[in-house]
Amino acid sequence: MFYLLNILIQMKILLNNTSLFESLRPFNDLGFVPTMGGIHKGHLSLIDKSNKLCKKTIVSIFVNPKQFNNKKDLRSYPRNIKKDLKILKKSKKVDFVYVPKFKDIYDDKKKSQITLLKKDEILCAKFRKGHFEGVLDVMNRLTKIIKPKKIFMGEKDFQQLFLVKKHLEKLYKTKVIPCKTIRDKNNVALSSRNFLLNKSSLVIAAKIYKKLVSIKKNIKKKKKIWSFLNLQKKELKNNYKIKIDYLELRKINNLKISSTKKNSRLFIAYYLNNVRLIDNL
Ligand code: AMP
Repeated sequence: MFYLLNILIQMKILLNNTSLFESLRPFNDLGFVPTMGGIHKGHLSLIDKSNKLCKKTIVSIFVNPKQFNNKKDLRSYPRNIKKDLKILKKSKKVDFVYVPKFKDIYDDKKKSQITLLKKDEILCAKFRKGHFEGVLDVMNRLTKIIKPKKIFMGEKDFQQLFLVKKHLEKLYKTKVIPCKTIRDKNNVALSSRNFLLNKSSLVIAAKIYKKLVSIKKNIKKKKKIWSFLNLQKKELKNNYKIKIDYLELRKINNLKISSTKKNSRLFIAYYLNNVRLIDNL
């Protein structure tokens, strides 16, 4: 009985494209959760949703070098494949884990033709040159290889979700499904990069979240939002000794600057102890 149960919940690890094509052939209702590893409860919530909406769930773990605009950031990105596989297996909700090598994704040597539109060069795109071109390229390649029915992505990386959804749904039948941001007990958005933070930095991140909630609450209609946010930015910088890339209120449907809280989110990117964190609420 136990053995039978174990077979039913077996998670297959796919280390190259040959084994991927072979294993996925019988399935057409695939839910796909792309990750760069450092698996946490945020990833698990995406997996949970895929498990509920699709017959089979495939998770990829691939630290895509082409989306890093900073070599040091790529080198220090948390990697722990053994631990990741253990967590994924324990969840009992993953049917396949795809752990490709660079050549499995980029073997065709075709140069990516993807460029961002001028109007999309905002928020992280403005501060991380080439980042989203790398993300769109890898998501395009992964979608071609895996052919999922649905892809599950987190609102924590809202701009990424926005751009990938727009890009992929134009090219494929695949639907990109947004998933809520999962936070720790102090409301800090979970992220693999949090593994690089010590306890006192996490305490500061929690304080920053609290402050963001109050900033959003205090955004008043008609008030000059831009100057209000600039003032808040200065305050955050001084109080927490952080470097802030942006603090902006933008509309959720098109990411244009917003002059009202309605259908809008407050977006932030900041460096805490040299670790770049993003959030939106
Ligand atoms: P990453 O491994 O950081 O590339 O993230 C893989 C996927 O998990 C992306 O779609 C992220 O948006 C999503 N994700 C990361 N952190 C969270 C979180 N705290 N809550 C929900 N989704 C998340």
